[in-house]
Amino acid sequence: MIKLRTTIVLYIIVIILVYLFLPWKGIFFIFITLLLFTHLVYSALSICSNLYVKSRCKGNNSEKKIALTFDDGPDAEITSEILGLLDQYNAKATFFCTGKSIEKNRELLKDIDKRGHAIGNHTYSHSYGKNMFSAKRLKDDIQNNQDLIYETIGKKVKLFRPPFGVTNPPIAKAIKNFNFIVIGWSLRSFDTIHKPEQVIQKVIKKVKPGDIILFHDNRLNTIEILKTVLEFLQSKNYGMVRVDELLNIAAYE
Ligand SMILES: [Zn+2]
Repeated sequence: MIKLRTTIVLYIIVIILVYLFLPWKGIFFIFITLLLFTHLVYSALSICSNLYVKSRCKGNNSEKKIALTFDDGPDAEITSEILGLLDQYNAKATFFCTGKSIEKNRELLKDIDKRGHAIGNHTYSHSYGKNMFSAKRLKDDIQNNQDLIYETIGKKVKLFRPPFGVTNPPIAKAIKNFNFIVIGWSLRSFDTIHKPEQVIQKVIKKVKPGDIILFHDNRLNTIEILKTVLEFLQSKNYGMVRVDELLNIAAYE
C-alpha cells in the first residue's frame, strides 16, 4: 500500500528533478501534476486503491467460497425477500446498513442478525454532500449509525463500508478511532445501473473463489438477479459465507 504521504513526497522529488535537469520544465510540470491529480481522484473513487484508507477487497482463493454483500438496506420488502432466498440456498451474507433505513426497519435488522448474517456500518445518512470534506460531520454520522445498531441488536460493529466506496482524507480521519475493518469488493454487480440479465451474465462469468460481491438490497431488481446467481453458485458448489468468515476476521467487538 503506497500511502498518500509517500505519493506527495514522490511528486515533490520528481518536480525538483524536472526543475533541475529537464528542458521544457513547464510542460513536464503540467504533465506530472495532471498525472498526480488523476491518480488522487481515481484512488478516491476506487475503494481498493488503499491510498487513503486500508480496505479488504478479496478473500483467499484457495477455498471455493465467496461473500455476498448487500448495501443500503434494510428495506421492508426487498431485504425480507432476500433473507428468504438466502435461507433457501443455505447462504449467509453481510448487510451494510444505513441508519436512515434501520430507523424504519429495526425489527428487520434484528431478523438479519438472528438468521446468522453479519451487519456492517454504512453511515447513517449515506450522503456525502456537505459531509464530504468534514471529518467531524462524517464521524458523527457514522457514530449515529453505530449507536443505532448497538441499541437494536446489542452488538458493536467492526465492519464498515463507505457510501459509494468513496474514500478521501476526511473519511480516513473520521474512521480513525472506530477500530473498523473497511470492506470493499472484488466484483461489483452494478445492480443499480444495469438490467438484471446483464448483471446475472456478468456475475456468472466473472465470479471466482474468494470474491466479495457487491449488491444492493433496496432495489427490486436484486431479487430477480439473486435467484439466478444463488442457483448458479450452488450448482458450482460455492460456499456462500459472511465476509468476516471469508476474511477470517471478527464482525463485532
Ligand atoms: Zn451505499
